[in-house]
Amino acid sequence: KKINLYEKIRELAITDGLTGIYVRRYLLERLNEEIPRARRHNLKLSMLMIDLDHFKECNDAYGHLVGDIVLKDIAKIMKEHIRQVDLVGRYGGEEFAIALPDTDKSSAAHVADRIRQSVERHKFKAYDETIAITISVGVATCPEDGDEVAELIDRADQALYKAKAEGRNKVVFLSREEIS
Ligand code: GH3
Ligand code: MG
Ligand code: MG
Repeated sequence: KKINLYEKIRELAITDGLTGIYVRRYLLERLNEEIPRARRHNLKLSMLMIDLDHFKECNDAYGHLVGDIVLKDIAKIMKEHIRQVDLVGRYGGEEFAIALPDTDKSSAAHVADRIRQSVERHKFKAYDETIAITISVGVATCPEDGDEVAELIDRADQALYKAKAEGRNKVVFLSREEIS
């Protein structure tokens, strides 16, 4: 009984209450283990940084409660497109991060684009209306974009920023020239 309770408490501590995915702190903790592991085995590891497009407008039009349901649905869609070994977390309010072990940049971009398309097609429900939502995604890969957590996240963030600047609803990774 005590063990079950302990497990339950631990699970609650690492899980985001709204979306049921990992909290940022735990995701970072796991990344701090996964990156050295990938380096030891000479494997790639990719990161996706995901941000909802114009989400403030959604909140303003339909209210925060509807916005929360959208976030929950997005988490569900992301989980449908990843493997058991992948780590998905809520990075900030409407920002998510996914770590893909043993995945190179081009495969990661494909996963990201499947999620992007799936969100674009999904009919999010607000009362009796449906809302269209899109996401922008930045991709970064260890080791070519960096072999430390902070560096990798920074690159993925830069790519995400670029996706926003290029008009949103896009998956972007930095070119070799942009990295160096
Ligand atoms: P952009 O395409 O540039 O990302 O535009 P945006 O409106 O999504 O970006 P911005 O950062 O201006 O706004 C993010 C909004 O996300 C603001 C805030 O109201 C909303 N938000 C953040 N966390 C939550 C949450 O937990 N629930 C709800 N409903 N909204 C949230
Ligand atoms: Mg944001
Ligand atoms: Mg946003």
